[in-house]
Amino acid sequence: AKKPITVTLTGAGGQIGYALLFRIASGAMLGPDTPVRLNLLEIPQGLRAAEGAALELQDSAFPLLSHVEVYDDANAAFAGSNIALLVGARPRTAGMERGDLLSANGGIFGPQGAAINAGAADDIRVVVVGNPANTNALIASAHAPDVPAERFTALTRLDHNRALGQLAATVDTPVGDIRGVTIWGNHSATQFPDIAHATAAGDSVPGLLAGRLGGPDGVREWLVDEFIPRVAKRGAEIIEVRGSSSVGSAASATIDHVHDWVLGTPDGWTSAAVVSDGSYGVPEGLVSSFPVDSVDGAWRIRQGLEVDDFARRRIEASVAELVEERDAVRSLGLL
Ligand code: NDP
Repeated sequence: AKKPITVTLTGAGGQIGYALLFRIASGAMLGPDTPVRLNLLEIPQGLRAAEGAALELQDSAFPLLSHVEVYDDANAAFAGSNIALLVGARPRTAGMERGDLLSANGGIFGPQGAAINAGAADDIRVVVVGNPANTNALIASAHAPDVPAERFTALTRLDHNRALGQLAATVDTPVGDIRGVTIWGNHSATQFPDIAHATAAGDSVPGLLAGRLGGPDGVREWLVDEFIPRVAKRGAEIIEVRGSSSVGSAASATIDHVHDWVLGTPDGWTSAAVVSDGSYGVPEGLVSSFPVDSVDGAWRIRQGLEVDDFARRRIEASVAELVEERDAVRSLGLL
């Protein structure tokens, strides 16, 4: 039998954690032949919820689930870990300044990075879901000097999937036939969902849209007034309609991110926030969303895509926000 993969989940007692656990244990994340061991990390207030979820996992009798353990100590939870899903984070509460939020999260992601550095497996892959995700990933990576920076990523797959869903509905094509969408920049309201290279069942999406919206100017207007804000503000829309946050889709996107990172992207590129190597003018070292292929278990930034002035300005605006966040955590001594 295959050796189990150790998956460490932080915030395991929270909502996204609850939605993630059952899909990980069912094999949706790592495939139907890969047994998993789950290490659940929580802070003291979250431990009972994580323990309760562990009982339910036992009751689900997943054949692929080899073991579940609940921890309140990061070093123990990351020991031997192959995959780390960093979901637990300090939410922004009323009256909290951005600096307070960044430093509260620095106090979580710095020590977790150090624990990963100290004890995770050599092939550790990390995805940060807890916000501000890109900068939390940067902080964790900075505290893990022995782990290649490429192993620290942040989730923009939910934004990517939201863009796919919107496009599929707009051009009336099954979502599985849409390719070539990119989320650039920060997982925040400044993100840029880019459809310039998108295709629907092989046809150019901008071409299809131009036919319906009265040419390229109509497409541009739709992008600025409808599509981009719809994708970027979808989280708020879900809260308004559903009465609570987008937990199921966030968990699903996390599953997709890890699945593709480990098992590849045969259907073309997807989006993930990865450490920049300077591609597309994004300063080296920032954790920014790019078009990425997964090749031999590693993300590679897709090269050579044309970026027009419209896209360039939007990417630059989101990257400027990432630079500000980086400078803020640097001045707080968190890097
Ligand atoms: P959720 O499980 O709903 O969310 C967890 C994190 O995911 C938040 O930072 C949230 O950001 C972020 N997130 C990213 N994308 C989305 C999305 N689409 N929709 C909603 N959230 C998104 O939060 P809970 O409060 O239910 O659970 C958090 C758990 O983490 C708690 O049990 C807490 O005890 C634990 N925790 C654990 C830590 C640890 O293990 N060391 C450290 C800190 C907390 P946003 O706030 O912007 O919505």
